[in-house]
Amino acid sequence: MDQETTAAGVAIVRTGGCLCGAVRFSARGAPGFPHTCSCGQCRRHSGALTVAWVEYPAEAVAWTGPAGPPARWRSSAGSSRAFCPTCGSTLGALDDAPVVALVVGAFDVPDDPALRPESHSFEASRPGWWSVSCGAVPPVE
Ligand SMILES: [Zn+2]
Ligand SMILES: [Zn+2]
Repeated sequence: MDQETTAAGVAIVRTGGCLCGAVRFSARGAPGFPHTCSCGQCRRHSGALTVAWVEYPAEAVAWTGPAGPPARWRSSAGSSRAFCPTCGSTLGALDDAPVVALVVGAFDVPDDPALRPESHSFEASRPGWWSVSCGAVPPVE
């Protein structure tokens, strides 16, 4: 059985949203490319020194809150940063390619082995006194 489906074969859905609740999402199926990023764009967008990310095909993500989809700001040639227009929470990045990247911190239950970062981008951009440890890889059952 695919670990991202229930016994009945239904895809697992993970939910999350912003601080005020105006923007909510549901993401269906397995998250891809779980990683952290410490680049300057992630840092400024979030206010955090390192951001944890996962990616989904755009069709797997539904915006379910009262505000609908998040506000966006064009941050690079192929992608826009997504945030709540009411409370300003960082939510992710919407790529021109059909990919939605979501910040792990916006998920309702971030303590989920499927969301654990497996790689780290822009490590050299971290302050020297900042490090990231994601702990041991939990056994897959
Ligand atoms: Zn909000
Ligand atoms: Zn980044």
